[in-house]
Amino acid sequence: PEEYRTQGSLTLGDVFIAVKTTKRFHQSRMELLLDTWITRAREQTYVFTDEEDDALKRRMGDHVVFTNCSTEHSHPALSCKMAAEFDAFLASGRSWFCHLDDDNYLNPQALLQLLSSYSPTRDVYLGKPSLNRPIRASETLPNNQTKSVHFWFATGGAGFCISQKLARKMVPWASGRNFLSTSELIRLPDDCTMGYIIECKVGGQLLPNALFHSHLENLQLIPTSRLTQQVTLSYGVFENKLNVIELSGPFSPQEDPSRFRSLHCHLYPDTSWCLQAAGW
Ligand code: UDP
Ligand code: MN
Repeated sequence: PEEYRTQGSLTLGDVFIAVKTTKRFHQSRMELLLDTWITRAREQTYVFTDEEDDALKRRMGDHVVFTNCSTEHSHPALSCKMAAEFDAFLASGRSWFCHLDDDNYLNPQALLQLLSSYSPTRDVYLGKPSLNRPIRASETLPNNQTKSVHFWFATGGAGFCISQKLARKMVPWASGRNFLSTSELIRLPDDCTMGYIIECKVGGQLLPNALFHSHLENLQLIPTSRLTQQVTLSYGVFENKLNVIELSGPFSPQEDPSRFRSLHCHLYPDTSWCLQAAGW
């Protein structure tokens, strides 16, 4: 199938894609992803959520993981999910781990093209820096004193990828319950904790990449002609306004508020529901 097309020697089968979601977004967000980009990366994509849901299970089979993590939007609950993603990736034996939020559109071919320019046997951490400078945090030491640390991290809301080589070095801080203990040392969210482990514990570094996008940047600024090259896109609220990519159709903003259905048609015009929308 098309999703196994190689870019160099890398195939999508070498990538583990983890999508983080929560019960209240199964319908409003996951259905949209399942109708669009996940159809192009079905074998690679695993969804991590917090509550059993037969409808989601029917659509995803054993590609939905019901973690026992709390449904709260708290640092511990989110760290618990990140650890579940990380451990499932290591168990899969695949070369690349990519994390996404449930409001991300992933272009699997653009991802493959990007990853194929890096070696999974090197320490690679790719994503969009959350800030334009390293974050400063205060690390709690075993003697209860604190140490000031600074590091870059990739914003989880834009998606990020880690090579297997780097992930294996992260195990003492990132695997199982270790992730939660590590996040408690700096009291920051899961994506910051990833950056902290990589930059402060393992000695790796974030490779900033402009092809990852969250809804915390103005998505209207991405030229329509460049949309097909982007690895991730998003939608959401930014500065109190709906923040979506600029794309005129085939669906109206009322039919497709996120613009993800229109984007999917832009990338895969032969999709049956795209042909109908275009009036064929
Ligand atoms: N999320 C979660 N548990 C919660 C709330 C959110 O796992 O209690 C997930 C959500 O499904 C999404 C990510 O965390 O994948 C970010 O959530 P959201 O987009 O709502 O917030 P943002 O941080 O982007 O404002
Ligand atoms: Mn979001």
